[in-house]
Amino acid sequence: MLVIPRILKDIALIFAASGRQSFLVGGAVRDMLRGEKAHDFDLATNATPEEVTAMFRSQGRGAERRTVIPTGIKHGTVTVYFRGIAFEITTFRTETGYCDGRHPEKVAYAATIEEDLSRRDFTMNAVAVELPKGRIVDPFNGRADIQNRVIRCVGSPLERFGEDGLRALRCVRFASQFGFSVDKETLAAIPQTLSTTAKVAAERKRDELDKITGSGKPSTGFLLMEQTGLLKELLPELAVCRNVEQKGRHCFDVLDHSLLACDYAAKNGWPHEVRLAALFHDIGKPVVCTADESGVRTFYRHERESAALAKNVLSRFRYSNAVIGSVVHLIEEHMFHYVENWSDAAVRRFIIRVGEAYLPHVYKLRHADAFATAGEPPRPDFLIPLMDRVNRVLEGKKALSLKDLAISGNDLIALGVKPGPRLGVILNELLEAVLDDPELNTKENLLEIAGKMENGA
Ligand code: ATP
Ligand code: MG
Repeated sequence: MLVIPRILKDIALIFAASGRQSFLVGGAVRDMLRGEKAHDFDLATNATPEEVTAMFRSQGRGAERRTVIPTGIKHGTVTVYFRGIAFEITTFRTETGYCDGRHPEKVAYAATIEEDLSRRDFTMNAVAVELPKGRIVDPFNGRADIQNRVIRCVGSPLERFGEDGLRALRCVRFASQFGFSVDKETLAAIPQTLSTTAKVAAERKRDELDKITGSGKPSTGFLLMEQTGLLKELLPELAVCRNVEQKGRHCFDVLDHSLLACDYAAKNGWPHEVRLAALFHDIGKPVVCTADESGVRTFYRHERESAALAKNVLSRFRYSNAVIGSVVHLIEEHMFHYVENWSDAAVRRFIIRVGEAYLPHVYKLRHADAFATAGEPPRPDFLIPLMDRVNRVLEGKKALSLKDLAISGNDLIALGVKPGPRLGVILNELLEAVLDDPELNTKENLLEIAGKMENGA
């Protein structure tokens, strides 16, 4: 028996007052049965969307005020905001005719909760709890599967995956999120329905990929994708990294290395951009790989190729320009080789190239890369000498960008330089000079250097 939160009981009483049933369904039930907190509440009811709207609109003032939004009225769904929490309320449904593999052709209302549960994807997602009492309706033994940590399709896996191509991806992402295994027959159906998955909108695929990279162990999802052909279908650039062996301290091929790096970022709770950068930081290696006579492979300037490929991949899945920009930049900058005899000017150039805001992310990416090279955590202090140097330069507030120069374009105009591109050229040369010698960053010095540049001295 599940403990039903008070708020759900109160909602159920509103349904009951109109003679209608209400059930908690979907992820909330599954997550409560897994002993986890539910993160969003889906309800199923035999009331029509119009009836639900009327029930909740007609009552409530002040803190009890309810807002009803017809979020998916075509699919029988309205969202009710009750005491500040959103509830998705959907009329019992059946679905028939998935012609395009993406959208049910026709959505028809169903008479019973059992019928509604039979259209759901996995048994663990097809358990309902009748409100307010808490009676469990479990026609497909979802509770047993949750207990045994197994993902299994409701009914025929071939039919389920053939109807809706997103389900195969949902399957591997749930495996990644919960660490559940996938039932044999369910797993075997995925390779046979790849053409249906191919038709799913890029944004919906991206949301699933994000949930895999956002999980505690993304490699679980990606390895299942590889095993079932989903990886080749969605991310062929990553799939071809299998068996691309590496030299030196590397213990893994490029695919396992990439997955381990992504796992390390996930395990440490690092931001999404770092996880994506870790996943794609070496995908250019199969392209640039060359071998010498003795078979030793090198991957010259692979970071450039990896960044370019990552840009293609992320654009294909319609990631925002902001995400694409960050991930590509992190990949481009992941190959720095700090040695103690870097001059302060070299450290300053490094900071400018990476950008102060990106430094923490680049360090994280390097940690993930180092972990995935040896398969064990790098010495915690391996980047500290560089970080110390960087911090010292930053604390010194030495000039690092054009805006930090002691003079501006206007000063140059006052000196007689004509407004135009030449101004930018001079300012950049002055910045170069200041990077080499920060002491030069006074108005007097810079005007003098600019004057010499203009007079050709
Ligand atoms: P999450 O934790 O990601 O929210 P969820 O299982 O709640 O997982 P939702 O997309 O919120 O996923 O969907 C709610 C419920 O609707 C699911 O539990 C499942 O019963 C059903 N469902 C969602 N998507 C599909 C689908 N593509 N095919 C069949 N049933 C689905
Ligand atoms: Mg949900």
